[in-house]
Amino acid sequence: MDPIALLLESHNEGRSFPPLAKPELLLVTCMDPRIALRLPENFAFVLRTGGANPDPVEPYLVYALARSGVRTVALVGHTDCAMSRPDLEALRTLPQGLEALYRPRIAGLAVGDPAAFVVRKARELEARLGVRAVPLLYRVEDHRLLRLEGEAALDPGHGLAACG
Ligand SMILES: [Zn+2]
Repeated sequence: MDPIALLLESHNEGRSFPPLAKPELLLVTCMDPRIALRLPENFAFVLRTGGANPDPVEPYLVYALARSGVRTVALVGHTDCAMSRPDLEALRTLPQGLEALYRPRIAGLAVGDPAAFVVRKARELEARLGVRAVPLLYRVEDHRLLRLEGEAALDPGHGLAACG
C-alpha cells in the first residue's frame, strides 16, 4: 500500500494496521501541540520543527532515509501555525542578550502561508534529494489531514479540494 494512502487511512479514517515490518515513511510536521497523528507502529520516522520546516533537521532526514531505504517524505503543515508570522514580542521574557540573539534567527524561520510553504519545500526536497516528497495540510480545527497536490488532492471524507 502506498505510504501516503496508509497515512490518510490510519489518521483520517481511524483504520488500524498491524505494526509494519519496516518503516515506509519519513514525516516532518510542526511542533504545535494540537497536532495528534494516528500512525501505525514502526510506520514512520517523525521529525517535528516549527512550521514543519525541514531545513533545520535536514541532516536527520537525510540520515534516516539513507539508513532505512525509505523513499517517501510527507511534509505536513497545518492551519493556524504560529510560525507563519512569529510573534517576536513573546521573546521579551528571555534573559537579557538572548532576545537579541534569537530575534533575527526566529524571524528568519517564518514560513508565511503554511500550505504554500510545504508545497514549495516538497518540490525542493524532491529536486535536491531525489525522493518523493508529498505536501499535506493538517487542519487543527477538525484534525483532518489533506493532500495538497497530486492525484488525490481531494479529501473523500469532505469532498473538498485542499488547493486549486
Ligand atoms: Zn505550527
